[in-house]
Amino acid sequence: MSLVVVGSVAYDSVETPLGQRDDVLGGSGTFFSLAAAAFTRPSLVAVVGEDFRPEDEALLAEKNIDLAGLTRVPGKTFRWGGRYHSDMNGRDTLFTELNVFEKFAPKLTPEQRRAGFLFLGNIQPTLQASVLEQVDSPRFVAMDTMNLWISTARDELVSVVRRVDAVFINDEEAHQLTGKRTMVLAAREIQAMGPDLVVIKRGEHGALVFNGDDVFYAPAFPLEKVVDPTGAGDTFAGAFVGYLAASADLSTANVRRAAIIGALMASFCVEGYSVERLRHVDAAAIRDRYRAFLELTSFDAPAL
Ligand code: AMP
Repeated sequence: MSLVVVGSVAYDSVETPLGQRDDVLGGSGTFFSLAAAAFTRPSLVAVVGEDFRPEDEALLAEKNIDLAGLTRVPGKTFRWGGRYHSDMNGRDTLFTELNVFEKFAPKLTPEQRRAGFLFLGNIQPTLQASVLEQVDSPRFVAMDTMNLWISTARDELVSVVRRVDAVFINDEEAHQLTGKRTMVLAAREIQAMGPDLVVIKRGEHGALVFNGDDVFYAPAFPLEKVVDPTGAGDTFAGAFVGYLAASADLSTANVRRAAIIGALMASFCVEGYSVERLRHVDAAAIRDRYRAFLELTSFDAPAL
């Protein structure tokens, strides 16, 4: 089924213990759609400025992403800067410049309005709401968010949470949003707001999937070298929702499988700066890592 995503398309400046990159392609919408495009043709709704490099647009187009909803306007592209802690898990935001996103008023095409799957990527909650209002009757709506919006636009954010089927959020944000100490209590609190499916991402410690009463754990793939974790969460969500949209199957078993696919694609994302690794992932690489994931997680389980 068709998948529409709204999210940021950005130039990121990133410092990790291994090095630094400035003005590299990033954004929640970018990582999400690149990951989803491995399974389906996502339609990206976003805005960029005059400084958006033609080669970056060409990359997205070449990766089978529908760019009918990518608008170019006068002004600067969204910019974000972050510095990772030495464990590569925690990070501090150094700056967030909304730039052209400040005045963005997305208008979906008739085809996008009929989308079966909608992902409200991390961006201002008011923008998420405006896209949500334009879709006719999607089968599945999921969202992501970030600490900035929890602290600056909490009410708007919660009103979006109440209207979606699924929330992707990291552990710190889940704590910030609910005040609950354990992830089980935080997930239950978010589920009580409305969404049946709550996915709590925990960086290198994997992701917990609360789907109604079903609880599933998808580990992060153990890697020798993590280069840049930026976008791992969006990549996880992109592969997860892209896989669900491609299979049009929301059964418990398929949601569990989608979580593994999400973890698998996220493991590629962190192996390079920006989209450098993700852009070169092909079907063979996905199959190899899928096999490695099965080996990692399967065990002979005699009765105890
Ligand atoms: P992740 O590492 O999955 O949390 O995603 C990081 C990406 O989100 C970066 O590429 C940023 O450009 C983008 N980003 C960071 N902060 C925001 C924000 N407040 N709104 C929208 N996108 C953001």
